[in-house]
Amino acid sequence: MVRFEEPALSDRAAAAFLRDREVVTEAAAAVTDLLTLERAVPLVVRSCDGDGSSYDLEARRIDICYEEVFEARELFAQTGRRGNTDDAVAAVLLETVFHEIAHAVVDDLGVRTASREEDFADQFAALMLLRQGAAGERRLRAAADAWNLLAATAENADGDAEDEHSSDRERAVTALCHLYGSAPGRHQDLVRPDVLPSARARGCAEEWAAVRDTLLKTLGPALREG
Ligand SMILES: [Zn+2]
Repeated sequence: MVRFEEPALSDRAAAAFLRDREVVTEAAAAVTDLLTLERAVPLVVRSCDGDGSSYDLEARRIDICYEEVFEARELFAQTGRRGNTDDAVAAVLLETVFHEIAHAVVDDLGVRTASREEDFADQFAALMLLRQGAAGERRLRAAADAWNLLAATAENADGDAEDEHSSDRERAVTALCHLYGSAPGRHQDLVRPDVLPSARARGCAEEWAAVRDTLLKTLGPALREG
């Protein structure tokens, strides 16, 4: 179900990283553990030559791009981030794999999502990560950090620091809201004006509970027992 294609020369280190960290196989196994799908969806890990990771609706195949390992690494390298960069990079890629699997799940189940499908895919990834406990919580945090960094980079590139509503920023805040909402007592440190403003944080426990319920209802027919 997971196939690693021969990487372009420049992607060799990224390919080795993804294999060694078992990012893609771990994601596939976690989804198989939760859901029974009609068809197995091939996950192809490859050099994408400029395209991003995606679900190909016609080929019914997920493509995950080696290049995104470098992109995530570059993002975190700018920040002098504390903690393990390899873990953060693997977390971003893992979130991406869950996100793309969500598109395949929607296609497989033939369901309509209550939210926009892109939001559903982010929510599904959050659910999969939060199911992992503390490790998954750190991973979701790392994915949100990456979106915040992307948002900051895009603003700088545009010379438009006023635009606080870029979709990357919104994805970051929503992910942090769901992380916080899943266990407010454990994540008080997220509630800061520059991370998760308290006005938003206040509604996050309810928001995540509702999102989670809707997700599970949507996935209902495919959920394994127990
Ligand atoms: Zn998507």
